[in-house]
Amino acid sequence: MLLEGKKGLVLGIANKRSIAWGIAQAVSREGARLAVTYQGERLEENVRELAESLNDPLILPCDVSKDGDLEALADAILSGFGGLDFVVHAVAFALREELDGEFLNTSREGYRIAQDVSAYSLTAVTRRMVPLMESRGGSVVTLTYLGGERVVPHYNVMGVAKAALEMSVRYLASDLGPKGIRVNAISAGPIKTLAASGVHGLSKMLEYHRTHAPLRKNTEQAEVGDVALFLVSSLSRGVTGEVIHADNGFHVMAMAE
Ligand code: NAD
Repeated sequence: MLLEGKKGLVLGIANKRSIAWGIAQAVSREGARLAVTYQGERLEENVRELAESLNDPLILPCDVSKDGDLEALADAILSGFGGLDFVVHAVAFALREELDGEFLNTSREGYRIAQDVSAYSLTAVTRRMVPLMESRGGSVVTLTYLGGERVVPHYNVMGVAKAALEMSVRYLASDLGPKGIRVNAISAGPIKTLAASGVHGLSKMLEYHRTHAPLRKNTEQAEVGDVALFLVSSLSRGVTGEVIHADNGFHVMAMAE
């Protein structure tokens, strides 16, 4: 098994459709033991229920916008696991009203929230987990979307946050490379999850991807899970600062047939 004896942290499970859950399944299939988090009591039951199928998980609360939660998370993982081999950051949030209409109308508060939860949190989480990973190498993986590279209608403020997230991946990769810690992102094609449902016009987007991606299908949770498995395993030991597209090739197309 690729991850025998390895310990990982997965942030971002809300329900069984979550990309984070697809990743948790892929990495635990290969032997990893996981700490999984839930954002607030509202999601605790969902996460506990799903986590029953994992191998002796730690189940911990964490709101990434709260520094106190991040400190407590690092302490709990240190006492539960004694260290960490990888971190999966699959967290994003923007106010619903910012994901419709024009980017021009983005509010100051809407911009701040999207950047804080969806981009800055990668740095905030990584900083707290570095001491746990330092002595054993480590791999950090985050989730991004094509709307951070090019304009996707209605993705708006989240696209700007994803651009900041992707650049954070490169700066973190540079900072942490000398410690043997790698930082990469997966740019996933659209998948109908709770977060994606907040983007206006999602079903049109899914249809467009299915008919225009070179592989002529929509991205599946398990496909993203397997790319994450590669990125947290030693198979990718020479890869850092990278954004890998798991989108059935959609991003290479400039024009429809
Ligand atoms: P999801 O709704 O299942 O997951 C989003 C998660 O973010 C939830 O678990 C939610 O609890 C968590 N979250 C939001 N605010 C938080 C906070 N303050 N503290 C802690 N957790 C918080 O949706 P998903 O699509 O699986 O999203 C996971 C990641 O994948 C996101 O970064 C998203 O942008 C990215 N992504 C999604 C798609 C897609 O089409 N679904 C495509 C590309 C990238």
